[in-house]
Amino acid sequence: MNNNNKQAFATRAIHSGYDARDHQGALVQPVYMTSTFEFEAVAQGAARFAGEEAGHVYSRISNPTQELLETRLADLEEGEAALATASGMGAITATLWTLVSAGEHIIADKTLYGCTFAYLQHGISRFGVEVSFVDCTDLNAIKAVLQPNTRAIYFETPVNPTMRLMDIAAISALVHDYSREISVIVDNTYCTPALQQPLTLGADLVVHSATKYLGGHGDLVAGAVVGRQEMIDQIRLIGLKDMTGAAIAPMTAFLIMRGLKTLQLRMERHCQSAATLAEWLQQQPMIESVYYPGLNSHPQHQLAATQMAKPGGMIAFELKQGLDAGIRFMDSLQMIKRAVSLGDAETLCQHPASMTHSTYTPEERAEHGISEGLIRLSVGLEDIADIQADIQQALEAD
Ligand SMILES: *Cc1c(COP(=O)(O)O)cnc(C)c1O
Repeated sequence: MNNNNKQAFATRAIHSGYDARDHQGALVQPVYMTSTFEFEAVAQGAARFAGEEAGHVYSRISNPTQELLETRLADLEEGEAALATASGMGAITATLWTLVSAGEHIIADKTLYGCTFAYLQHGISRFGVEVSFVDCTDLNAIKAVLQPNTRAIYFETPVNPTMRLMDIAAISALVHDYSREISVIVDNTYCTPALQQPLTLGADLVVHSATKYLGGHGDLVAGAVVGRQEMIDQIRLIGLKDMTGAAIAPMTAFLIMRGLKTLQLRMERHCQSAATLAEWLQQQPMIESVYYPGLNSHPQHQLAATQMAKPGGMIAFELKQGLDAGIRFMDSLQMIKRAVSLGDAETLCQHPASMTHSTYTPEERAEHGISEGLIRLSVGLEDIADIQADIQQALEAD
């Protein structure tokens, strides 16, 4: 227990929201594999549809397995409520379809996960929503694009893949000072609540790809959004139920809860190994630059130290000889997997320009600081000596 009498994070990640007495003593909540729920009488069905009585109706809207996961995620993110979805993109799109209408305006950081960028740049703009992409590390740049019809500001921190950081507290204060009508939305996939809790810093909503560290085992695709109850209710009833239908499967919700039990433990190891590797990579003669918030050389090292409990498990780096050397390096890896995604037990290595950020044009990539030779590493849970040995032999391969 910590001093405000609340159980600690690792404990809540295991126990929060569950009472075995409600489930015949089962240690782990049984998975509710059901699409629909029986009403005792028409009046009960009517009351549930009207939102006058708590209870489930249909599993596109809610389900007891999903509900336990949502209780746990809300607790870990220090939010009132959460909504679990079929994917991270399901969470992001359900949220924005709920918050904005034609004629309104979104501000987004210039560098985003590839599909989020595609949705904002090429998707939602088809429906009369205006999006301004700015460098959200620059508060004046945000100030310059705030408009009376702005409804949301959206960013990741650290940014995928370049590892720039956004100052969540400063951005939230600036934007809310301009208008309380603007929702500050932070994609917390890279950090998870084990390392960073945007809602405690002033953000309104946190979105996740639970596919990554929350699930943690590379065996599912899912997402979540966390925030105030009233906002989450709306996202459930508009963005999820009617506009995306991105409902999470009960078995997937179960697997994420299994992953959450070791979230803190895993994040500690991911961070420890990444910090060691980043320092080591920086000293290798073939490496031009290493981007990791835990390095003194990271321009926002100080912000990382205050905003994040630890600098995370993701590293980006560039080889001196650029793209060709990068491809040779990647094709020489033996244990480390060439794969997109992140946050798994396996160390994963990918090339943003040809993979996750191929949704950007080369000009857009250049503009957003994603060089053609940049390599992204998701440091896994293998023994650090084996990860390092594989990188070393791949760096030396010709
Ligand atoms: C993977 C990812 C997403 C999208 O999530 P999916 O579960 O793949 O739909 C969004 N944001 C970030 C930062 C991601 O890494």
